[in-house]
Parts: sequence; C-alpha cells; structure tokens
Amino acid sequence: MRSRGTSKHDERAFVLSSRAMTPPLWAPWRMEYILGERQTECIFCDFASLHNHAMRDKLVLLVQPHAIVALNRYPFTTCHLLVSPRRHVSDLTELDPVEYTALMELLRLSVIRLRNATGAQGMNVGFNLGKAAGAGIADHTHGHLVPRWLGDTNFMPVVADVRVMPEYLDDAWSKLHPFFADLAGERAPAP
Ligand SMILES: [Zn+2]
Repeated sequence: MRSRGTSKHDERAFVLSSRAMTPPLWAPWRMEYILGERQTECIFCDFASLHNHAMRDKLVLLVQPHAIVALNRYPFTTCHLLVSPRRHVSDLTELDPVEYTALMELLRLSVIRLRNATGAQGMNVGFNLGKAAGAGIADHTHGHLVPRWLGDTNFMPVVADVRVMPEYLDDAWSKLHPFFADLAGERAPAP
C-alpha cells in the first residue's frame, strides 16, 4: 500500500523555510489540508495514471515519461506548482540518471513558464526530503515551485477567498495550461 504517511505538522517546514527568507505567508485555506482526512493512495501515482480528460480536474498540467507537473491544491501562493518523478520513490537519490535529469529539466522549464504566466518577481523552489524535513507526502518525492512578489504575504487573501478556492484553482490551471502546451508529454490535458 502506498501511503501518504503524514502528520498534521509535516508541511510546516516549507512555511518555516520561507520564513527564513521573507515574512511568513498567510494561507488559511491550508487548514483544510492540515486538518483533513489523510488519503491512503499516493496522489502523484494517481496523477501518473490519469486519463487525459481527468487531468484538469486533478490540476495536472503535464505527464511526461519520467516527470509530472501539477498545481498544488493547497497552495502557499497563487499558482504553487508541484513537480515529481513518475516513479514512486521517497528520495532524489533513488532516481536513476535518466529520471533525475528528466525531473530537473521539467523543474527548470516549469520555473520559466510559471514566471512568464504569473509575472512572479521571485520564486521559492525546493524539495522537502523526508518527514523530518517537512514533506507532506514523504513517500513520493516532489519539488515545490512557489511564485513570490515583493510584499506578497497577504497576496492570496486578496485574489482568492478561501470560500471560492475550487473555482480559483480551476482558473489558475486554465491560466497556466497554455504555457505548458509546447512541452512534450506522454499525456497532456484534453482541451
Ligand atoms: Zn507515488
């Protein structure tokens, strides 16, 4: 069984790492994730097996032979992306050279596209390896791409009220999707 194996405190480390660089982000909608039921299946493995028509609903932008990029359903800022390998491994060091290169290349290309799509002035990019480092889904390693703006600590409450989060996420997916359309994928979302 692929288990998410999380605790309610796991994801705090990424916030704390952001705090080291900038004032803390305020993301009250993440309480749904922090307090919600833990899924038993791995969402990244689920992403990897999605039918094209289900990709939008799951906020997946691209599935390549060795890597995946999707919007985080519980974002720290607008258009917070997750980039993961296809294979269910808990650590970057478990990837073979082809998988690692594919993951890092998709990470690099996603930085460019996220910047172009959002006009971000900066970006937090990082991997939390292991529960102790704050990985919310420690069993399937994934990188976070969090676009940032000067003085953005109250940005999201302005643009996206927690009560309309599902609609906001769909809008964000629609905004980003064209920027990834040029990338080769084993599967891309159906129009
Ligand atoms: Zn997995």
